Amino acid sequence: MPNSANHSQRLHRLDQLRKPMVTRAILLLVGFCLFLIGLHAWSLWASRQHQLEQTAISTANMARALASQAEASIKIGDAALAEIVERAEHDGVEGAAGERLHARLQAIARHTPELQEAFVYGADGTRIASSLPQLVRGNNADREYFIYHKTHPGRGLRIGKPIRSRSSGIIAIPLSRRIDRPDGSFGGVAMASLKLDFFGKFYNSFDVGPTGTILLMLDDGTLLYRRPFAESMVGTSIAGGPVYQLYRKSGPVGTALLVSNIDKIERLYSYRHLDGFPLIVASALTKDEILAGWWIAVIKMSCVVAFAVCVLAWGGKRMVYQIRVREAMEGELRSARAVLEQHNVSLRVLADSDGLTGLANRRLFEATLEREVGRARRAGTPFALILTDVDVFKKYNDRYGHVAGDECLRQVAGAIARGARRPADLAARYGGEEFALILPDTDLEGAMAVAELIREAVYGLQIPHADSPFGRVTLSLGVAAGYPPGGPEQAPDAWVQAADALLYEAKSAGRNRVAGRSGSLADAA
Ligand code: GH3
Ligand code: MG
Ligand code: MG
Repeated sequence: MPNSANHSQRLHRLDQLRKPMVTRAILLLVGFCLFLIGLHAWSLWASRQHQLEQTAISTANMARALASQAEASIKIGDAALAEIVERAEHDGVEGAAGERLHARLQAIARHTPELQEAFVYGADGTRIASSLPQLVRGNNADREYFIYHKTHPGRGLRIGKPIRSRSSGIIAIPLSRRIDRPDGSFGGVAMASLKLDFFGKFYNSFDVGPTGTILLMLDDGTLLYRRPFAESMVGTSIAGGPVYQLYRKSGPVGTALLVSNIDKIERLYSYRHLDGFPLIVASALTKDEILAGWWIAVIKMSCVVAFAVCVLAWGGKRMVYQIRVREAMEGELRSARAVLEQHNVSLRVLADSDGLTGLANRRLFEATLEREVGRARRAGTPFALILTDVDVFKKYNDRYGHVAGDECLRQVAGAIARGARRPADLAARYGGEEFALILPDTDLEGAMAVAELIREAVYGLQIPHADSPFGRVTLSLGVAAGYPPGGPEQAPDAWVQAADALLYEAKSAGRNRVAGRSGSLADAA
């Protein structure tokens, strides 16, 4: 019994700790799936940024290389021009000096592959010397660079807008310097043009992908070269374009994702303004091409993650189903347990009760008697036992039969049971037509009153009994009451013997009466 009580207590405690399992499992799974997807998205975003950053480093390096190449080419042209100007100013450009200049220009052109051609013009614009084998006489006073130097006293290098050569028909970038007379007045112009093609070849050696681009422009926005090359664009202004706008905003060096005005393609551009010259170079890779590999990784990894999420969802669904099955099973077990407990209670009642009357049986009577006598002894409280026997019952059976006898016993038992009014009182069938009533914490007076009430109750049932001197079924009762003595424990049987003796007295005195006594049990016995 105590084991089963502990067990139920533990069950109750566990019951309070129980939480809705299915909801938790679903929340956990959904949370984990979201976390997985979030992590995946974050890692894809990070790798995209990394890819763009790496490409930005490449385009910036490319712009640096382009700037160095442009700077070197221009320095070569400039060095040649500086030498020519120095000669022209020192030796003059007329006569023999002009001849020597002419020879010198040819030598320079031979050793400098970047140069398309070089000319020296007099103050009136006529050609005086040329890098071409034959000096074709002509006048270039209308050229933009000539007008510029004629009207500007500055002696620095000037890089002009691309021009188509009058002698060769080829487009080139003119570099020019002013020639001064000894008195400082305008003495002419030295001009050397750089081959556009020279830039083109160099630019084509870079891998910028099928739609990448490379730009070379003046810092006023005039386009000198663009890869892919289109002659019609050379010399046009791209000052309104995004690269030039970015340069105006961000300064000499920069990198950004921009959409081209020319072909509407989004590219990652890196531009750089040359240190010593008014030129800007830019290189750009197309965003779609930069991210092509990344997109493949996105698709592959997303498939893996989607698969993982599907597996999780599928496994989770099965798990939730299993949890539901277990919870249903648990519910079934609980109700089965409740039913069993109910059965146990009924069985216990059956085991302790008398089949005919429903009163406590002899077994429970004896156990209760022992317990209550012991309790009264320890507590020092009074105790009473009533023993009762149906009068001349043998004859009742003989006259009315056993079945009627049994029914009679049931009615008598009911009257006796009604006499046990306190919770601690116990009415029992002692055996045959004998009954007992245990009355804890009751003195003789109280017990006699109870006995008398029971006697009257049975008498009041008016069960006919032709062979009884009273004409009806009656009871004789013996009441033993007193304080269980201290000292060595007394056998509870002594109480039965005492009550039995008093019952015998009641019988002897004529039946249908109560005999009681209080005091020492030894006396009663
Ligand atoms: P008295 O007690 O007044 O001295 O006379 P009595 O006839 O009751 O005495 P006795 O104890 O000799 O008889 C008991 C009878 O009770 C015997 C039996 O026929 C009857 N009896 C005992 N148990 C049962 C039972 O369970 N059912 C029925 N119907 N009769 C029972
Ligand atoms: Mg008897
Ligand atoms: Mg009897």
